[in-house]
Amino acid sequence: MTEITDIIKATTQIDPVTGSLNTPIHLSSTFNQVSFDDFGEFDYARSGNPTRNAVEATMARLEHGNFGYLFSTGMATISSVLLTFSQGDHLIVTKHVYGGTFRVFEDVLNRFGITHTFVDCTDLENITKAIQPNTKAIYIESPSNPILAVTDIAGVVAIAKEHQLVTIADNTFMSPYLQKPLDLGIDIVVHSATKWLAGHSDILAGAVVTNDQALAAQIYFVQNAVGATLGVTDSWLLQRGLKTLAIRMERHTASAQQMAAWLEQQSVVLRVNYPGLVSSPFFEIQQRQAKNGGAVLSF
Ligand SMILES: *Cc1c(COP(=O)(O)O)cnc(C)c1O
Repeated sequence: MTEITDIIKATTQIDPVTGSLNTPIHLSSTFNQVSFDDFGEFDYARSGNPTRNAVEATMARLEHGNFGYLFSTGMATISSVLLTFSQGDHLIVTKHVYGGTFRVFEDVLNRFGITHTFVDCTDLENITKAIQPNTKAIYIESPSNPILAVTDIAGVVAIAKEHQLVTIADNTFMSPYLQKPLDLGIDIVVHSATKWLAGHSDILAGAVVTNDQALAAQIYFVQNAVGATLGVTDSWLLQRGLKTLAIRMERHTASAQQMAAWLEQQSVVLRVNYPGLVSSPFFEIQQRQAKNGGAVLSF
């Protein structure tokens, strides 16, 4: 099956009750309980809603994972994943991390005793050097927002396995159409679904996918306990946006490639950051782990 066909199949989940091709929007906070002891699959929508669950399954399938969870924003997603860690835990974080993620590490988690070291993950040796006895995870973002620094994902996974660390990758700039971190051995993929996934500048959303049942249980616990879930209408809009992910990414990346090549020729431009350019220091590693250079560039 081609990837485009798979995306169409993943986003078309036939409703078992009515046969509708699109997932109904279940605007219900609460669900009938069959009996005092039997709540059925759904009871309260923070814990689970059929619309949200359907799109969570879509996200899991697109990222080649078994468990998907949707949150109200990308930052709600990332913060909820980081809340699975505890006081005293230490994380190694790419210094090229998104500004909002930087702020959560620096100004929120620090106050609760979850510490971090920012390192330049484009050189894997820096990661090994930063490992402490209480290090629990490595957090990367590749390519990074906004300077498009690329991290060797399989290389990070190898270091993490050797030291029994959890790996978390922000895949926002690629989308699963261009890069699948779980296939490269990453434990947890996070997304700002606000960007390529929803694709129409209309909603804020976030997604996390994992293959690890124990990690999935921890993430679901925080999703239900803290409650930063994605609303059902926005879940539906995300599903609708995802239907055209492949065709949009093809066009976005073709445009970015063309613009990067043009900018590189301009004498007033000092530097173009785009891992799809042969002249980029990240070209080779990007070719190895992703379909192309992606759809964002900076200069
Ligand atoms: C936008 C973005 C986020 C945050 O997502 P929101 O949906 O804005 O909360 C996280 N990571 C990256 C790489 C982003 O570009």
